Amino acid sequence: MTLPESMQAVVCRGPGDYRLERVQTPQPGPSELILKIQACGICSSDLKCRDGAAMYWGDGDRFPPFVKPPMIVGHEFAGEVVAMGEGAKAHFEVELGDRVVPEQILPCRQCFYCQRGHYWMCEVHNIFGFQGGVAEGGMAEYLRVPANAVLHSVDPRLSVEDAAFLEPLACGIHAVNRADIQFDDTVVIAGGGPIGLAMVQLAKLKTPKQLILVDTHDDRLALARDYGADHGFNPHRDDIAKEIRALTGGYGCEVYIDATGSSSGVVQGLEALRKLGRFVEFSVFKEPTTVDWSTISDRKELDIRGSHLSPHTYPVAINLLARGLVTTHGIVTHQVPLTDFERGFEIAAQRDSIKVVLITDDA
Ligand SMILES: [Zn+2]
Ligand SMILES: [Zn+2]
Repeated sequence: MTLPESMQAVVCRGPGDYRLERVQTPQPGPSELILKIQACGICSSDLKCRDGAAMYWGDGDRFPPFVKPPMIVGHEFAGEVVAMGEGAKAHFEVELGDRVVPEQILPCRQCFYCQRGHYWMCEVHNIFGFQGGVAEGGMAEYLRVPANAVLHSVDPRLSVEDAAFLEPLACGIHAVNRADIQFDDTVVIAGGGPIGLAMVQLAKLKTPKQLILVDTHDDRLALARDYGADHGFNPHRDDIAKEIRALTGGYGCEVYIDATGSSSGVVQGLEALRKLGRFVEFSVFKEPTTVDWSTISDRKELDIRGSHLSPHTYPVAINLLARGLVTTHGIVTHQVPLTDFERGFEIAAQRDSIKVVLITDDA
């Protein structure tokens, strides 16, 4: 296949400055691939970046900018191999026409973490859709996969929505793995966004004694029940810690996974956990959170575990979707053409959407 001269792409030039542009179609260098993108999900991080959040654009002395504009945005995509640079076939063990997904991180392969196999914590930390020229994103017709990408084959049984949901699902799997769920556990997932709702399905597969979603939308609590949650509580209405104690003989839950992105979700979790419980923090926050650390030490001896990205979990995500054990039905609520990305971002920012996927037109 000959690649067209130019393609359409969503280019970020600065906070709030996102445009659909016609740009040069990337060409593959040695050991590189070009993917034709079918779909790319809009992540809440895309919205935060668009809105100028400090964690992307830097915050004076606290941390440097993460983004390198101008860049094509989007990190939730999969695509078909349509061109290969010299040596790429052997390097990635792929053929033209294969459906593949690169992990969102492009490990440098040289830093302290990469050298120890902890590639998802790579010190350089380039991520598709955030660094122009280095890691261009998937809200485009084509994408260049650099040689240092971590690539996986995508099962042909997966739908377009499934393929676009692999990245968030893989992140949810890592968080649920971090929770180390046991049969006898009462597990609370706080925050029913796309990944929180995926976590409900994933935690259910671990067969805990009780599974609970906490969210401020009753329709999401209902969806979680469809996915196998035993209870759904709404903090606007329910006293969360009290409800959880009532279900656990007065003790509290063993596992609390926070996917709320809000400080109140953290405070609520420390309160809801029983002694010796496990707290998994998945969220990214706008503001620092203040809590009484004596709860972690003196009162409850808690395990506090962070969760970042998706080490070794893309193959699990692909397999669970292919076997029908996890579904995107109910989570992917909207599909919008790439050319209409502004409307897609608007819908994604609204409370009644869960996951919006941009579909690349076959022009
Ligand atoms: Zn994301
Ligand atoms: Zn590295």
